[in-house]
Amino acid sequence: MKLGLLGEVLGHSLSPVIHEKLFQKLGISSTYELIEIPKDTFQKDLPALLSSYDGLNVTIPYKVDVIPFLDGLSQEARTIGAVNTIGRKEGKLWGFNTDYTGFARTLSRIDCDVKGKRAVVLGHGGASRAIIQCLFDEKAGEIHVISRHPEKVDRDFLSFARQRGAIIEGYDSLKVEQDNYLLVNATPVGMYPKTGVSPVSSELTASFAKVVDIIYNPAETKLLQDARGSASNGMYMLVMQAMAAEEIWMEREIPREIITDIVEEMTQ
Ligand code: NAP
Repeated sequence: MKLGLLGEVLGHSLSPVIHEKLFQKLGISSTYELIEIPKDTFQKDLPALLSSYDGLNVTIPYKVDVIPFLDGLSQEARTIGAVNTIGRKEGKLWGFNTDYTGFARTLSRIDCDVKGKRAVVLGHGGASRAIIQCLFDEKAGEIHVISRHPEKVDRDFLSFARQRGAIIEGYDSLKVEQDNYLLVNATPVGMYPKTGVSPVSSELTASFAKVVDIIYNPAETKLLQDARGSASNGMYMLVMQAMAAEEIWMEREIPREIITDIVEEMTQ
């Protein structure tokens, strides 16, 4: 299969390494290319790209812009309003959101059952909509989205969050409390090269039973070092979203042991 990742600037993407590891382990000759398109030629270039690839991943800033070019959307892509994977079903182009699947599988990895419990998401960037949708679908009791400037959060995001019962608050609303269950870092704080810092205090992190940091470099951020309950890093989510995309393109399940090997190799 001819596959690729579509975005504006893709210099340091780890996606080709993850997908090539999978092709090697499955003994298949698929290819995975990085496809950079500037914003001003996106509308003109996209139709030709869509017809010349068997499957595409999509990243910043095109996750919403690709939607009008597709014939249909999976349920999670439609509710989130963003597509990170494009595949073909009976000759038609379909959009999916495997960031959602990657996050859902990360929750399972740490035995996180958020139903009826308090979940806190730090940040409201590209990744957090899929996270909020997943927490809503998993019936979290409370979803708090934390911003440095809650009053400046854009109206579109505000309405998305409100429709899912999420509350947008400042960092000063966070307290060490018994009801704290899941903490998710969806900000770049702690990411390479500015490692050794956390968006919240060690005491606050330690008060959560489950902690997910979606940062994948370094493998163990300061936030994860402070965690006392079960925790997962973002490499697991990144590999899982890639595996979920491959499962859509290949129309078959990837054996669990292959996925585990890829996660291990990517965190070494
Ligand atoms: P982003 O758009 O760059 O930022 C997300 C939010 O973080 C912003 O809305 C901002 O909210 C807050 N923020 C930014 N800089 C901050 C700072 N210095 N201090 C405190 N808060 C800050 O992020 P993104 O694209 O969603 O990505 C966030 C992180 O997730 C990155 O490290 C990225 O590599 C990682 N990521 C991982 C995966 C995965 O599969 N593992 C997928 C996507 C992204 P406020 O200004 O409102 O506070």
